[in-house]
Amino acid sequence: MPNHLIDIRTSFFYTEIRYREHMDIQDNIRVGYRWLGAAGVALRVDGQTLLIDPYISRLPWHHMFFRCIQPNRQLVGDTIGIGNHILVSHSHVDHLLDVPVIVDYTGAEVYGSQNTCRLLNILGVSASKIHLIGAGNELSCGLFKTVVYPARHYPIPFFMPGNLDAHLHPPLTARQYRMDVCFSFLIEADGMRILVDSGRRKFQHVPADVLIINPFYRAGYYQKQFKAVQPKLVIPNHWDNFMAALFDKKSQNSYSQDWVSALIARFLLPRFRRIVQTYSPGVKIIIPQLFREIDLSASIAG
Ligand SMILES: [Zn+2]
Repeated sequence: MPNHLIDIRTSFFYTEIRYREHMDIQDNIRVGYRWLGAAGVALRVDGQTLLIDPYISRLPWHHMFFRCIQPNRQLVGDTIGIGNHILVSHSHVDHLLDVPVIVDYTGAEVYGSQNTCRLLNILGVSASKIHLIGAGNELSCGLFKTVVYPARHYPIPFFMPGNLDAHLHPPLTARQYRMDVCFSFLIEADGMRILVDSGRRKFQHVPADVLIINPFYRAGYYQKQFKAVQPKLVIPNHWDNFMAALFDKKSQNSYSQDWVSALIARFLLPRFRRIVQTYSPGVKIIIPQLFREIDLSASIAG
């Protein structure tokens, strides 16, 4: 049986197999980048891993209202086996839900806003693992030096920013994962600067080699961003349907793309590619495949 068809529920060694076969970790990579789906990113340098907004449970849309929600512990544990530090851009479900489970499995340190920290505390994460951050902070996350920038989240009805309810007891509803503020992160790893753009940012001059950015903004925003960042490589982020399961339930096969994500890939990502080529000619664009590790150093050099 090919490895990718091994049933995660029955194989004790599945995590190791998946990392070997799908995570495709190669020892000669200097700065490894993996897209985890939704806004999730994993960066790897010298055996240390920094996760940003990892979200594997991918609850369906009807879980977003009226009911209490839980992460898919087994799936998260099987998929994310490593992590030393976790940056949380904001506390919405698709950025925070799985973080307590990942901390449980990996012992990673977590960094986030006041709401993020309070939710982590309520969800049982040890206080020693939780780090409050704010815009302008410079963080030392092992081999990943990080600067925190303010970002503006687009408005979502029923999920507007504000304070958390005074009394919260898990399990929570999706709406109780209320955001306060949103952050973008400039990460320096092995001499490379990677800007993970989590929401609209003012056009400060923030040069970075790699810009990881949502591909749905208006063209003018990219024009200004590219001028301010001067990236060599651009990677679209948070573009797929994060309410579609990662796995085909019937076969347990990996990473089947649902029809919404397929349509976005067919029609909206080419628009993004055209915009990048128009406003930043010569800049590389990589449309990442889920969990496939990319060598950022080689991508920029080659
Ligand atoms: Zn959000």
